[in-house]
Amino acid sequence: MKIKKAVHRKIHQLILDKMNKRKEERRKRIKLHKEWRLKALERDGHKCVICGDKKRVNVHHLVSKSVVSLRCDVKNALCLCSLHHIFDRKISAHKGSLMFIVWLKKHRPKQFNYLKGRLS
Ligand SMILES: [Zn+2]
Repeated sequence: MKIKKAVHRKIHQLILDKMNKRKEERRKRIKLHKEWRLKALERDGHKCVICGDKKRVNVHHLVSKSVVSLRCDVKNALCLCSLHHIFDRKISAHKGSLMFIVWLKKHRPKQFNYLKGRLS
């Protein structure tokens, strides 16, 4: 009976340690994401780089944030209003991506080359 309690306590402690480790990793990810976002906003003047809108600014990942090694690279960030980030079918990073890439090549050649280098 005593052994069972000791094993139970040990398992419980291992679970708590794992949960605490996950919480700490999550805190670090959130902190890094906030720093990445702030650096991008400061670099781009807290406005959409396409239209200058300052009200609904999103920070876009040029290379998907699923690529963990580039997730917090400020070169991988671009400030866009929600229209130019997601919704505009003519030119937006997600729906009007061909025109967006053309725009990026013309107006942000360093970031275009960064994107091109990561995708090829
Ligand atoms: Zn915009």
